[in-house]
Amino acid sequence: MGETTAAPLDPDCIFCRIVAGEIPSDRVYEDDEVIAFRDLAPKAPVHVLVVPREHSRDVRALAERPALLAHVTRVASQVAAEESDGDFRLLFNTGPTAGQTVFHVHAHVLAGRTLAEGEL
Ligand code: 5GP
Ligand code: ZN
Repeated sequence: MGETTAAPLDPDCIFCRIVAGEIPSDRVYEDDEVIAFRDLAPKAPVHVLVVPREHSRDVRALAERPALLAHVTRVASQVAAEESDGDFRLLFNTGPTAGQTVFHVHAHVLAGRTLAEGEL
């Protein structure tokens, strides 16, 4: 899928650089608001990150943009339907203690594996 080329919003942010097309990614979806690309270190048979083009730190900040947050969930659902059977987990690591390592909000879409009852 074609990459957009534009100056990254925040040149120190790896996901801003991916959004800008400066760093290559395996994109599965893109529109004016978000891009979705495969995680470099997949933790499930389908592991896609849905990333708003606009830089914000985490899902707490994204909660101020409810339409954009809703759009992220719709794109996640569409990706899961295209890549697997439509069922998926949606994960926002929020803050370092919770394992967030890239501070540009992103939703992990995890699919393609049957979880045991109660497994997280
Ligand atoms: P976090 O731990 O912040 O929730 O998730 C960051 C995710 O981004 C990790 O799962 C990591 O594998 C992925 N990641 C980090 N750098 C890159 C990259 O340059 N390209 C891709 N495709 N994924 C990346
Ligand atoms: Zn960013």
